Amino acid sequence: MLSHESHPRAKTRCVLLLILLLLAGFKPCQAQSWVDTRVAGPFVVRADFPLVGLERLLGELARLQTDLGRSLNLQPPGESVELYLFQDEKTYRAYLRQHFPKIPYRRALFIKDKGPGKVLVHRSPEFAVDIRHECTHALLHSTLPMVPLWLDEGLAEYFERAPEERAYDNPYFESVKWAARFGLVPSLEQLESKGDFSKLRHNDYRNSWAWVHFMLHGPTEARHELIRFLADIQASTPPGTLSQRLAHRLPKTKSQFAKHFKTWER
Ligand SMILES: [Zn+2]
Repeated sequence: MLSHESHPRAKTRCVLLLILLLLAGFKPCQAQSWVDTRVAGPFVVRADFPLVGLERLLGELARLQTDLGRSLNLQPPGESVELYLFQDEKTYRAYLRQHFPKIPYRRALFIKDKGPGKVLVHRSPEFAVDIRHECTHALLHSTLPMVPLWLDEGLAEYFERAPEERAYDNPYFESVKWAARFGLVPSLEQLESKGDFSKLRHNDYRNSWAWVHFMLHGPTEARHELIRFLADIQASTPPGTLSQRLAHRLPKTKSQFAKHFKTWER
């Protein structure tokens, strides 16, 4: 079992739980009578409360695949993702106890076995952010055979914001920009060395987000290298490390990173 635990702003929030082997045969949707069911792009959404009023969020979800595809040039997934939404923490916990009793509690979950990925989220002040974060993991893992941990989280942190907030209004932005003014650039090699969720700290999520932002919005060569890196993974070609690839493709990567955040403005 691979268990991904995170989160940046709230330790209780989790985030990614991959269960690759132990869940064969689980069919959690069948025993529950769902109040509302919708289809949003690749997501089949089932909720234990009416989804009236959530059309905008569902529309964003339908677009998430397009946004990921456009930013990362990824092939669309060949399978749907099951999204389960709960009216509150109580019904969410009851559902987990019944269907996934062995999984440690997390505020939100992404579960992947051999079948379609499953995302489970309950309503809370972070409801929309949790959904976009977990669904980003689900889409990445539905089309890529693996994703380096730091990049998985960096992309989820980037795409968890509403589309209009992603480029300029992420809460991480100010602290990264402030550090960049002093020439402080987070070590990509250090992020790459963390292969286990227990090693990830709050700053690692922020730093992973920052490298993703740099690659998506910084020099064209950096974005191209990210796209090529993911294409290699998609083709099951050993991709090496992004830090080495960026250093090869983009001389003075760290000073380019600092310059990017110092000068990034609407
Ligand atoms: Zn995550």
